[in-house]
Amino acid sequence: MSTIRSAIVVGGGIAGPVAALALGQAGIEATVYEAYDTTADGVGGTLSIAPNGLDALAAVGLGGIVEELGSPITSMVMRNGKGRRLATLGSPAGLPAQRLLWRPDLYRALRDATASRGVRVEYGRRLTAVDQDADGVTAVFADGTTARADVLVGADGIRSRVRSLLDPAAPAPRYVGLLGFGARLGPGPVDASRIGTTGSEMHFVFGRRAFFGYVLDEDGSGGWFANLPRAASTTAAEARATEPAGWLRLLRETFAGDGLRMDDLIARTDPADLICVGGMEDLPTVPVWHRGRAVLVGDAAHATSPSSGQGASLALESAVELARCLRDLPYQEAFAGYENLRRARVEKIIKMGERTNSDKAAGPVARVLRDLMMPVAMRLMNPESFSWPMRHHIDWDAPVDGAAVTVQAPARAG
Ligand SMILES: Cc1cc2nc3c(=O)[nH]c(=O)nc-3n(C[C@H](O)[C@H](O)[C@H](O)COP(=O)(O)OP(=O)(O)OC[C@H]3O[C@@H](n4cnc5c(N)ncnc54)[C@H](O)[C@@H]3O)c2cc1C
Repeated sequence: MSTIRSAIVVGGGIAGPVAALALGQAGIEATVYEAYDTTADGVGGTLSIAPNGLDALAAVGLGGIVEELGSPITSMVMRNGKGRRLATLGSPAGLPAQRLLWRPDLYRALRDATASRGVRVEYGRRLTAVDQDADGVTAVFADGTTARADVLVGADGIRSRVRSLLDPAAPAPRYVGLLGFGARLGPGPVDASRIGTTGSEMHFVFGRRAFFGYVLDEDGSGGWFANLPRAASTTAAEARATEPAGWLRLLRETFAGDGLRMDDLIARTDPADLICVGGMEDLPTVPVWHRGRAVLVGDAAHATSPSSGQGASLALESAVELARCLRDLPYQEAFAGYENLRRARVEKIIKMGERTNSDKAAGPVARVLRDLMMPVAMRLMNPESFSWPMRHHIDWDAPVDGAAVTVQAPARAG
């Protein structure tokens, strides 16, 4: 049985609000502290929530929000730059379709959910330090203010401050060799002979020189993203320092040699709508997930590269599982139990994302082999090897078994 009554949640992205809502459901009062003000809502491209993410949201009564905001994606179609279909991956049997939505819409919906359930979110509060003692934990913010609670949850993303405070030797994010771009498209002309509409499918194209994904409605509205192989990384801030029109020109040139005219969609993009993600990153393993009264959740603990399409869904799962453990166990056992439940699963999915990245950055020989092998491999593939990450189910009411928890020593002292 938990003796925890209050929690500080650092980060108001995806994991943070859902952790706070789940903790509330577990009888623990949580307050979210977000570094940015609410205007950060405007930032971001598309995001897919997989069936396992939908399941995690349903565990805290939020299943409906993504269904309202997102469009169902019934299959993912892979093609090469000439337009040849390499594979089609349908929704796994017995699971709901994944949902594609706009990141700012999800942030807004999560914010509304916290407000309607009385969970406080304080904006403009950037955490800088954490002090722990026998009775509780104090968060120190850049504006000089502090907050105190029984435990602290670091949901502060891939560049987590909490992670480096728990373990100064914690690994930094790893560049995966691809720069990310994306944009939303308003209604416009569709030339089906050059690039067609997608209906409820999402299309992915292994172009000759870069990777492209898009959805396109009958009225020409939709969105696209591009992953550009590059040896050296660029931060989002550095990418934004280049004129968007310059990036769009480079992307058009990159895709111009492909038979399938992705450059049509890029040409239709208003430079003001271009999203420069910068170097795409992951975190293969984070040795220390918790120390004392503080614990990590979401990208702070397990960031998978965007190629897996699972980062947000795993963040949602971890947020709910952490709250379930804190509901049922004293905090040290709860943190150890949470890590036991989560680590192997998330690290395996991060590895899957890593393999997709190497397909996206294939050189000329690997490209030919990929185009030959992929259709055969997909035919021979056991569908379960693709669908297992999506079959994860959280039984909120099931008690967490304290006896099964191994209390692990942190991997490094500090
Ligand atoms: C281009 C791109 C495309 C992606 N596409 C998908 C996809 O299709 N499907 C999918 O499942 N995942 C996708 N992901 C991954 C997904 O976005 C992340 O896994 C998810 O956002 C993780 O949620 P989080 O809450 O852990 O972190 P975040 O969403 O990054 O939220 C962290 C929050 O913490 C705040 N913060 C940071 N530092 C502090 C501090 N010191 N004090 C207070 N607050 C702080 C930040 O401002 C932010 O609001 C994509 C990622 C990228 C980059």
